[in-house]
Amino acid sequence: MSRTDILMTAPMMPIVIDALDKAFTLHRLWEQEDKDAFLKEVGPRIRGMATSTLFGRVDATLLDRLPNAEIISSFGVGYDNVDAAEAARRNIIVTNTPGVLDDEVADLTLGLLLATLRKIPQADRYLRDGKWPKASFPLSATLRERKVGIVGLGRIGKAIARRLEGFDVSIAYHGRTQQTDVAYPYYPTVTGLAEASDVLIVITPGGASTRHLIDADVLKALGSNGVLINVARGSVVDEQALIEALRSGTILSAGLDVYEDEPRVPQELIDLEHVVLLPHIASASVHTRSGMGKLVADNLISWFDGKGPLTPVAETPWPRT
Ligand code: NDP
Repeated sequence: MSRTDILMTAPMMPIVIDALDKAFTLHRLWEQEDKDAFLKEVGPRIRGMATSTLFGRVDATLLDRLPNAEIISSFGVGYDNVDAAEAARRNIIVTNTPGVLDDEVADLTLGLLLATLRKIPQADRYLRDGKWPKASFPLSATLRERKVGIVGLGRIGKAIARRLEGFDVSIAYHGRTQQTDVAYPYYPTVTGLAEASDVLIVITPGGASTRHLIDADVLKALGSNGVLINVARGSVVDEQALIEALRSGTILSAGLDVYEDEPRVPQELIDLEHVVLLPHIASASVHTRSGMGKLVADNLISWFDGKGPLTPVAETPWPRT
């Protein structure tokens, strides 16, 4: 029996490549000198795809080259890199990697929050620069008595909230809908939540529906003691408005893991000493990235074993409705 042809657009972790090599005929698009000719010849045979939020978009242009694709298995819980609505129109299942990264991302978020408030990276730089013998490091802001607003109380947002409970701070949230099974106060608008908070943690999906959800008005509402933590997607925050708010003291500081044009980070942000900047690492431990990689491969294996996708996204439910 001939093996199923799978396309990978850019190199993924060895755990994914090895598992897919074992189960399928894996085609490595990035290794092809003439990608156009390759897609012309092999594209019609491709039945599944492995991709990642870190790679380019999977949209109608690419899907036109893969007329027999059945499933796109995407690495990461966010899948704004895949045009899932277009995939749904073509009856192609899209899967992501939810759940296996919640704790890791929540841990990192708390680390970033504390690092931002207590200026941990700045203090490390201070010591290394030999400044300690001359003067103590300046006193920092605090998490004590803060009111934390979570924008996007989903799987990861809830894991963040559970951790925050241990820090004895008040917690509220905003989403499009109020959740009946949580006791935290709900704010129907993000500006309302920002007004009631002095820390805003953003952990929504990216894409059109959340683009610039955090804008100049929200930052103004957060106020001069306010701290913004963005671990969602760069597109959710109006980066120019944020830079302006940080420069003018409209908010106190920010901790960012994601940016509008990754891996490019505006020099204006890098020049600001009172922000903490991470290179999109919230899920990036060996443990968690391996779990995510395994789920990418397992979704494809399950599908081609006739057992359905393990973690289909909302736009392509299974069983099909
Ligand atoms: P979930 O789907 O479980 O939760 C998403 C939450 O966002 C829901 O509570 C949803 O509530 C809310 N939401 C969705 N759309 C909007 C909107 N337009 N306005 C306000 N709230 C909205 O996802 P996860 O918790 O698993 O993941 C969340 C996101 O975190 C990912 O999509 C990804 O973008 C980001 N992420 C970032 C990582 C990093 O490395 N920095 C790693 C992992 C994830 P409701 O439906 O009621 O609006």
